[in-house]
Amino acid sequence: MAKSPEVKLAVFGRAGVGKSALVVRFLTRRFIWEYDPTLESTYRHQANIDDEVVTMEILDTAGQEDIQQKEGHMRWGDGFVIVYDITDRGSFEEVGPLRSLLEEVKKPKNVPLVLVGNKSDLDHIRQVGTEEGERLAAEMACAFYECSACADEGGAVAEAFHELCREVRRR
Ligand code: GDP
Ligand code: MG
Repeated sequence: MAKSPEVKLAVFGRAGVGKSALVVRFLTRRFIWEYDPTLESTYRHQANIDDEVVTMEILDTAGQEDIQQKEGHMRWGDGFVIVYDITDRGSFEEVGPLRSLLEEVKKPKNVPLVLVGNKSDLDHIRQVGTEEGERLAAEMACAFYECSACADEGGAVAEAFHELCREVRRR
């Protein structure tokens, strides 16, 4: 029997956007309010995606790395989740530079990517419109999800990770 495919996924984004909360939500379907913000962890996870068992190795970055560490993580990964917080415009403005660095590190390869606007439960203090996220994703030619690690009703978090796996497998 063929060995199940393995994909390495790294989660990027400014500290505090909810990277750890999203990864933990995806892995456990639970929300953990406080997560050590300086912690960097990798997790292994198997999922059945389109009738194929895929093994993911997921790197939850701390978001405070220097450029060398960032580049190292980018070289390691096959696919990337870039996360911003819809209540933090600054985190949205960091997406473009992260994407440019990814392109630079991975060139001439195409970079499998998904864009996630997290904390959609905090719509009342939103600073980044849904259309802005959609527009940026269109510019980057990647899928876009608005979701909430703490109130993940439609399963958008898992959908984002699964779509990224598909994107990696298509390359
Ligand atoms: P990281 O630094 O990107 O890993 O962010 P964390 O996962 O540690 O989350 C930072 C803070 O945002 C924590 O206080 C979380 O409880 C909170 N948080 C994360 N995701 C959400 C979300 O979807 N909604 C709300 N309201 N808070 C969130
Ligand atoms: Mg974290």
